[in-house]
Amino acid sequence: MNLPQARIAKILLWSCVDGPGNRLVLFLQGCNFACAACHNPHTIGQCNDCGDCIPACPTAALSLAGGRLHFDPARCTQCDDCLAACPISANPMALPYSVADILTLLHRHRAFLSGITVSGGEPTLQTGFVTALFAAIREDPDLAGLTCFVDSNGHLGALGWQGLLSVTDGVMLDIKAFGPALHLAMTGRSNARSLASAKIAHAAGKLYELRYLIVPDQTDSPGEIARLIRFASDLGGPQRIRLNAFHHQGVRGVAADWLSAPRQAVEVVAEQLRHAGLGPVIVPAVWL
Ligand code: SF4
Ligand code: SF4
Repeated sequence: MNLPQARIAKILLWSCVDGPGNRLVLFLQGCNFACAACHNPHTIGQCNDCGDCIPACPTAALSLAGGRLHFDPARCTQCDDCLAACPISANPMALPYSVADILTLLHRHRAFLSGITVSGGEPTLQTGFVTALFAAIREDPDLAGLTCFVDSNGHLGALGWQGLLSVTDGVMLDIKAFGPALHLAMTGRSNARSLASAKIAHAAGKLYELRYLIVPDQTDSPGEIARLIRFASDLGGPQRIRLNAFHHQGVRGVAADWLSAPRQAVEVVAEQLRHAGLGPVIVPAVWL
């Protein structure tokens, strides 16, 4: 069978912050949002082989061959100098991986893993790969018990979720803002699909976590929090909600001038949610 490949910016062999337990995490390259607050802006673009990043590499790990950018991991010292040189926020170090490549990694580290999470970028831009990978994991008796999670901005349409949810155990879904104008300003996109996706995943019993980023004076306004409370209440039943705190690590552009979210501001919102009968509500374990 000819299974699809994905372009992957980074693989973490073990993570305890990307879903339940200890997980292998794939950061897929490319995103359909342009979030000002993005902590990994180099995962947004898809390389167009322009070559602009090549002179930035001090170890000649980047070159053009046959009009395509070539990355030599053996030469790379992971200085990240090339990332700032890309005019379209692509990552010259992203590499193609097949489903078989990822299955091999999972077999190798199976004893230490609870599951796999696909993140990004936006992993649902490569839904064919993710669906094929999750289906292959389910069919592999040696990988039985591993759970398959998606960390998404929710911009995938209803039809896309239909296929993906059939092989997915849990979705962690970010709502960047509830007010349509604020969401558009923060991401460049409408939030209509994200809100619909949260409802679809919840109705399927697979919305593991609703995520919301606290940006002082923007997403923590009384109006925004009231909308968050109304939305989560309307989902019905207990719903895990994770509040993330905006900080400047990795951020470029206008958001570099935004205020970081202090612990107290996040705790205040968490208490409002709990007071409204929502939760469990999770706040950051570490404050930057
Ligand atoms: S991160 Fe690697 S490829 Fe990029 S500039 Fe540094 S050595 Fe070169
Ligand atoms: S990573 Fe960016 S700068 Fe480098 S070749 Fe691709 S598009 Fe051009």
